[in-house]
Amino acid sequence: MSKLLLRQSIIEHCLAMNESGLNQGTSGNISIRDRDRMLITPSGIPYARMQTEDIASMPLAVERGHWDGPCRPSTEWPMHFDIMMARPEVGAIVHAHSTFATILSILRQEIPAVHYMIAAFGGASVRCAEYATFGTDELSHNALVALQDREACLLANHGMLALGKTLEQAMWCAVELETLARQYYHSLLLGGGHVLPDTEIAVVQERFKYYVPQD
Ligand code: 13P
Ligand code: ZN
Repeated sequence: MSKLLLRQSIIEHCLAMNESGLNQGTSGNISIRDRDRMLITPSGIPYARMQTEDIASMPLAVERGHWDGPCRPSTEWPMHFDIMMARPEVGAIVHAHSTFATILSILRQEIPAVHYMIAAFGGASVRCAEYATFGTDELSHNALVALQDREACLLANHGMLALGKTLEQAMWCAVELETLARQYYHSLLLGGGHVLPDTEIAVVQERFKYYVPQD
């Protein structure tokens, strides 16, 4: 994909993320790997006003924090940067303050295997990263810990993170996580429910190898 198309794709996904109700206002941010660089949404700019040139380009190199472009990168660039560096298979990251994932993050609870779809996130739970102030290296560290062997996590008192090889996959992951969070939230209101055993999640993970969501 050309650099311009990558930038356009980020803006389209930001707009879609807010229109669908997954996110609101200038909360949330999106990044895409562009070979040895990371393209990331600018900080605090309403998505409806965002132009392709506003997307910051950061080298995925030791010179942490350098960016090219007229706008400051998202305050969460350390989290996006560190995930891209630590997880070479990750091509895109979506961070959102979606309602139900955020409610569970306020409880600082992980999501257990209350639905087989949990396997889509890499295991029998979606962890909640320990709380740290937004935009800090500490939050980035905590997120990486929670994301071990996982494609998504909650961020305590904050929101959620979803990863993918492509931006379409990362957004699919974010939508599925919010759906799972909503289902879990409602089952908690009804007094809880049954949690699937790890053995069943391992079986589902095997089957997911042949279930590829289409972009
Ligand atoms: P930015 O506008 O800087 O990306 O911040 C939004 C956010 O969600 C911070 O956690
Ligand atoms: Zn945030």
